[in-house]
Amino acid sequence: MPIAFDNSYARLPERFFALTPPTPVPEPRLVRLNPAQAEELGLDPAWLSGPEGLAMLSGNAITEGSTPIATAYAGHQFGNFVPQLGDGRAILLGEVIDRFGRRRDIQLKGAGRTRFSRGGDGRAALGPVMREYIVSEAMAALGIPTTRALAFVLTGARVMRDAILPGAVLTRVASSHIRVGTFQFFAARQDTEALRTLADHVIARHHPQAAQAPDRYLGLLEAVIAVQADLMVRWLLVGFIHGVMNTDNVSVAGETIDYGPCAFLDGYDPATVFSAIDTGRRYAYGNQPSIALWNLTRFAEALLPLLAETVDGAVEVAQAALAGFAPRFQAGYDAGIARKLGLPGDSEGDTILGAEFLSLLGAAQADFTLSFRHLARLQAGEADEAPLRATLAHPPALDGWLERWRARSAGTAPGALLAINPAYIPRNHRIEAAIAAAQERDDFGPFEELLAVLAEPFVERPGYADYENPPQPEERVLRTFCGT
Ligand code: AMP
Ligand code: MG
Repeated sequence: MPIAFDNSYARLPERFFALTPPTPVPEPRLVRLNPAQAEELGLDPAWLSGPEGLAMLSGNAITEGSTPIATAYAGHQFGNFVPQLGDGRAILLGEVIDRFGRRRDIQLKGAGRTRFSRGGDGRAALGPVMREYIVSEAMAALGIPTTRALAFVLTGARVMRDAILPGAVLTRVASSHIRVGTFQFFAARQDTEALRTLADHVIARHHPQAAQAPDRYLGLLEAVIAVQADLMVRWLLVGFIHGVMNTDNVSVAGETIDYGPCAFLDGYDPATVFSAIDTGRRYAYGNQPSIALWNLTRFAEALLPLLAETVDGAVEVAQAALAGFAPRFQAGYDAGIARKLGLPGDSEGDTILGAEFLSLLGAAQADFTLSFRHLARLQAGEADEAPLRATLAHPPALDGWLERWRARSAGTAPGALLAINPAYIPRNHRIEAAIAAAQERDDFGPFEELLAVLAEPFVERPGYADYENPPQPEERVLRTFCGT
């Protein structure tokens, strides 16, 4: 058996999913396999890139041991509750235990229609698949919890979006695909039995320490609050904007999931939005922590029947747990900014110094990633102050700031900040250029080059200096699309 599937989700009650084989495609072509991810999963890269592997990765054959399902979930989309969403274009092939003993989902995205497709075609287009591949792998290299990309296949069929586009399938790997919206699905149906089954599954799979808590379901709520607070810290510290933080796109395992119109900040402005569908700016960069708390509040609401005998009692317990989000986020964020600046981070003064640096960035709309990298190079003795001064547009306040920063960061080893502040992030204009080359010329060279650079985001590569730079004015991407 080429893959030792062990499908725990498919063993849950039938109302959790719909058994759904992928729909075959005419001319599958493997564009990219992620060999490191294959090895981690204990899969043979040679088998995966051979005919049987390609048949699995394109949805053309069901590999032995796989039980393909589309999972049921609900969700708040831009604040409005939709009682039934579910995997409309994603099919879970099954689970494997990876080399580290972790249970991981293997899922095809774009593998055809399911019971949850509503009006959609169940397919994915080349561009969004490439974007998810690039950004999820970049996030992993930056050390941020995320789903992973195992493979990317062209189907040989076309999909209709604004234009006619090449169809593609992404093979995605995740700790699980269980979302806040999965809990909401059963809560909305007042199916407390299913809710309890799901909660127990998630505790055993993702948050086993909750089983030791005096109340395991409160333990679960607190664990999900903690992983989401920590995830928001990580996103903000690298300038990531998810773009569609609907509750159906929030993983209870705390991984970044469902990359759609996501993007990284160029110029620092907390109000930044790229997503074309986020007209109300709900999911702006700086709003993400408060939206995460809003989403967690929906999670707590779904859990209420498990938290106490009475509604009032449950609400009280939930509110106390939710009150832990803001202090955990804030402490993590302040510590993270201090780390990026090489400050001890043990005083109010360091928090102020961090806030002042960000306001210097904001005043100049200076590039977030590049400004921290310039500072890291200055601290390493690899550069003088000139690049930082130029990026920040020479504000007079910088002199005083640098003097205080030098005093407070004196104890940090020179060069330490180069391993904390990345040189390379998946910048929008680079992603768009890689997609355009693939779409217009069947040229995957820019895609491969971008993946190579992003695989080691802290290591400067000779000859690739331009990958650090923000877009030229004519290269700027102002809007991103989810392309569904
Ligand atoms: P997403 O934008 O990936 O968060 O998807 C939101 C919802 O729309 C989910 O229920 C998806 O399964 C569904 N969906 C998105 N695109 C398609 C498509 N092309 N066909 C069917 N369902 C889709
Ligand atoms: Mg989604």
